Amino acid sequence: MESFAPDKVRRFEKILASAYDIAVVTHMKPDGDAVGSSTAMYHFLKNSGKSVRIVYPDPWPANLDFLISEDTAADVYDYRKDPEGSAAAIAASDLIICLDFNAFHRTDGLEGLLEGASCDKILIDHHLFPESEKFSLIFSETEVSSTCELLYTILMHTEQIGHNASRLPLEAATSLMTGMTTDTNNFGNSVFPGTLHMASDLLKAGVDRGMILENLYNRFSEDRLRLMGHIMKDLLTITADGVAYIVLDADTLRRYNTQEGDTEGFVNMPLSIETVKMSLLLKEDGEKVRVSIRSKKGISANRCARLHFNGGGHENAAGGRLHMGKEISCMAEVSDYIERHTHIFMTEKDEE
Ligand code: 5GP
Ligand code: MN
Repeated sequence: MESFAPDKVRRFEKILASAYDIAVVTHMKPDGDAVGSSTAMYHFLKNSGKSVRIVYPDPWPANLDFLISEDTAADVYDYRKDPEGSAAAIAASDLIICLDFNAFHRTDGLEGLLEGASCDKILIDHHLFPESEKFSLIFSETEVSSTCELLYTILMHTEQIGHNASRLPLEAATSLMTGMTTDTNNFGNSVFPGTLHMASDLLKAGVDRGMILENLYNRFSEDRLRLMGHIMKDLLTITADGVAYIVLDADTLRRYNTQEGDTEGFVNMPLSIETVKMSLLLKEDGEKVRVSIRSKKGISANRCARLHFNGGGHENAAGGRLHMGKEISCMAEVSDYIERHTHIFMTEKDEE
């Protein structure tokens, strides 16, 4: 694998060796892979004696709180809550490590700060089409389950870890296992041979997978399960093209007291229907509508996101957005937009 050419990891180690104040950043609406990779990087670097800060563009879901201990929390910034502190943390850094995104605009409010920073920047990511010219060093690999798997492989190749997972700080190992678990839907998709090797080595190194699963999947509210029932019974539409879609307006989200992370995974469920080839979940969010897309083999969620929903992502898992006053003028138009555009996509999918 090109990314793991030893000289590339040597360059990574060299850049780390010449830096002391390091900022770790990840994409907006951070998910398990974003929080997992950033906290793993944090613990690895702290263990190497560095001064490290994690800057998130906005809050992480509560079911990932277990990855951010009280000690760590003092070094974690949320740009929404503390824009000045976040900007100062980035400005004070002599190295910025970017995890789990391919383009600065995916960091929302941090975009200008990252563009403006003149220090070295390293990208570690598994999305298609990275903004290569903006980084001193890039590890970009799409044939991995997650950024956590890619980071794990890089760390294993460092002299410090030397292919021995038990040399990773246990918090880092736990974080890596968590991000890989969420990005694969608990080993349901995007599992490569390296993914299972990694899982096996991390278990041997002492990671408590039961604790991770308990935190990730067994601590939701009753409202969330009721919302899931309502969605699958009343809000799911399936088009003649085999496209399933769900539209969640602000009123529904409020009625079920929906928290960030609550709807994670819902978009995958309609793919369990044999005739469904692609699934979309749309959530009203202020002046825009956030779009999640999942597809079965042979259909490119990434291309659909790029062509019709102002986004991108991976081949079978992507996302994007619709803007109020641009593609649509109100929520009532969302269904029509989806049906028209997915029809175009599904019937012209061999072109581009
Ligand atoms: P989700 O549906 O979970 O929000 O996103 C699915 C995948 O697509 C994630 O890996 C996410 O990072 C990626 N993604 C979501 N929105 C965008 C986008 O606007 N651009 C790109 N390049 N990737 C996105
Ligand atoms: Mn990811």
